[in-house]
Amino acid sequence: MALLPIAKVGNPVLRTIAEPVDPSVIATRTCQQLIDDMLETMYGNDGIGLAAPQVSRSEQCLVMGCEGQEAFPETVLINPRIVFYGPAQVEMWEGCLSVDGLRGKVTRPSAIRVQALDRMGAPLDFEATGLFAVCIQHEMDHLCGKLFLDRMTDLSTLTQLKEFDTYWKQEPATVI
Ligand code: ZN
Repeated sequence: MALLPIAKVGNPVLRTIAEPVDPSVIATRTCQQLIDDMLETMYGNDGIGLAAPQVSRSEQCLVMGCEGQEAFPETVLINPRIVFYGPAQVEMWEGCLSVDGLRGKVTRPSAIRVQALDRMGAPLDFEATGLFAVCIQHEMDHLCGKLFLDRMTDLSTLTQLKEFDTYWKQEPATVI
């Protein structure tokens, strides 16, 4: 296990389309090590999600997990696809381990259906809502070279962390 260096905004790897993972290599030690290192890097940086391009690996591999009020289970998604978007939208504050010190409001579909492979290469097909759905969409954006900044429709909500804690922390997520 190792903490991996995180690519920050401006690094071209964050703007590159990630390659699909060959399912036959998922069970290999190299791939399992990458997944374990990504999980450790995510938890070690207090993140709730991390995409392989954020550790300079341009591959379609995501890890996520969140404890607390809006908890969702530790999840590994390889070659994920969103096959359905629900009609309702949710507006949430997002931040990113590749964008230090900033948060901003992003509006996204509040329910999605996802197909992917799990960390053993077995097929997954599930629905996600709320923060879990937002996190999956944020992480999947990293696989197509997008950052939450690109998804913001109102840049006036861009906020530094100290100001977020002072002025905006108590604001609930808004469902639109
Ligand atoms: Zn991110």
